[in-house]
Amino acid sequence: MNAELVAVGTELLLGEISNTDGQYISQKLANLGINVFYHTVVGDNPARLEQVLREAGKRSDLVITTGGLGPTYDDLTKEIICRVFDRELVLHEASLDRIKAFFAERDRPMTENNIKQAYLPRDCTVFENDWGTAPGCAFDAGGCIVAMLPGPPRECRPMTDHRLVPYLAAMADGVIYSDSVRICGMGESAVEALLRPMMENAVNPTVAPYCKLGEVELRVTARAKTEEEAKALTAPVVADIRKALGDVVYGVNVDSLEHAVVAALYDKRLTLAAAESCTGGLVSKRITDVSGSSAVFLGGAVTYANSVKERVLGVKAETLASFGAVSPETAEEMARGVCLLTGADIGVSLTGIAGPGGGTAEKPVGLVYLGLCCGGKTEVRELRLGGRSRERADIRGIAANTALKAVLDAVAKI
Ligand code: ATP
Repeated sequence: MNAELVAVGTELLLGEISNTDGQYISQKLANLGINVFYHTVVGDNPARLEQVLREAGKRSDLVITTGGLGPTYDDLTKEIICRVFDRELVLHEASLDRIKAFFAERDRPMTENNIKQAYLPRDCTVFENDWGTAPGCAFDAGGCIVAMLPGPPRECRPMTDHRLVPYLAAMADGVIYSDSVRICGMGESAVEALLRPMMENAVNPTVAPYCKLGEVELRVTARAKTEEEAKALTAPVVADIRKALGDVVYGVNVDSLEHAVVAALYDKRLTLAAAESCTGGLVSKRITDVSGSSAVFLGGAVTYANSVKERVLGVKAETLASFGAVSPETAEEMARGVCLLTGADIGVSLTGIAGPGGGTAEKPVGLVYLGLCCGGKTEVRELRLGGRSRERADIRGIAANTALKAVLDAVAKI
């Protein structure tokens, strides 16, 4: 099945908002094994919307629109869809009752134009909206499935998960199951080079790479009659990937690197603390994004100025004077210092030049030292993250990723 997403909204064209609905739905369709061939964005303009929908209906098996289901005069998606796909727009009593109840529960007056939201194409499958007022819907327009979802992401996302995905899954023959292999410490091209034969020959399951900042995800997707059968198809491929890539695989079906770190620390009843300079607390932030991290994370210090590195972490003035703040010696003392300060089992430190200014020939932008103090021993790694004119945010993000992965590796060895 080949899908096209049509995002309706002039705000999107003006660049006032990003098409995050499109991104979200695309990811969900990929999980279902549905190919998305086109993303189209069109303003709240009836003639252009009609033109886009006519084109989409010709070239796609599935057309999903977002936005334009609201009560106002410029919300025209349903009306135009009914014109293009030759459906009558009829009042759906149950939806009207739900909209009335929505307003009554909130003690808000319902205006006349809200009734417009209860009009839906005749004989469609209604997607009840438990997160807002406008229902979505879907129908088969003679070989092309047309689905409509509301625009606000807080409605569109749950409507996708709880209405659209089950609707599409019910139409599919069998199930589609994916395992997500998460990789940190090896670039996408290196991963591909190692796995190319496997990726090229894979049919069921398929193996597809997705590149994220400082990480690669491999999605192993199988189609089968039941979930058990699909899992039996993906499991040996995941095992082969693990064998081929080794330690750079940090988890399968885990939420994120920080989730993996918190889980690993928890399993071994270990505690962590962070001393950060160039990352400005990013490691601490990401760890504390994970619910339950208080059991393993004791604290972090953002020590930007040399005086604070000295006073808070006990970095020696001579070290800073002789080697500079961005040096292996400082990273080592920072990691050790934060362990002493907090009593953590593991201390991680980062000091570097995030740019864009501040680099020299000797210490260029992207030079970062990562210290890891564990079991009375401190190791320091030099990272060179400035290649391909990376931006400050990317350098900081990759430095934090590398630190989290280093913690994970250290925990695995304990
Ligand atoms: P409502 O019932 O709230 O009017 P709607 O289905 O008519 O919803 P729109 O009016 O088109 O949706 O958009 C409402 C808001 O939803 C927009 O102002 C915008 O903030 C957000 N939105 C719309 N489309 C998208 C999109 N594709 N990605 C992210 N946000 C979007």
